[in-house]
Amino acid sequence: MDLTQTARGGPDTDATYELTSADVELYEAARRLLMTAHHSENHRVAAAMRGGSGAIYLGLHLGSKRINVCAESSALANARIAQEDSIHSVVAVSMDGNSEPQVTNPCGLCRELLRSYGAETFVLVDGEGAVEKIRIKELLPYPWMRATETEWDTRPPRPGPQHG
Ligand SMILES: [Zn+2]
Repeated sequence: MDLTQTARGGPDTDATYELTSADVELYEAARRLLMTAHHSENHRVAAAMRGGSGAIYLGLHLGSKRINVCAESSALANARIAQEDSIHSVVAVSMDGNSEPQVTNPCGLCRELLRSYGAETFVLVDGEGAVEKIRIKELLPYPWMRATETEWDTRPPRPGPQHG
């Protein structure tokens, strides 16, 4: 794999991954869509998602005065409509002040949504000025789960070390 040893903070977040030409292609697809469809209220974000088959699916933010639906959600719907079993990677872009598309990190809702369709999905993120690539399970290391969904029993908290 294209794993590097760059350290990052947080649990399970000890790796970054090299960008590939396929990642650049994904970004360019999202960028082209935003350049075409951007609207300051109705379409502020565009997303591109690569399914397990390798095909790219586009998504567009839908907005009104009181309602916003993220671009990632329509990209995910398009991938599932095409019967993609898995999601390989995703990127979202929004306009900066100079009308230039910039990679935009997924909101909290999208992190939860994306993770529920696969923990291994790669996400291109804005790493404070440089585009980085990490897995959704690293963006959301402790997902919301019902106690009935976990494969483990969680001991009640107690003072002192919890492990070992
Ligand atoms: Zn979102």
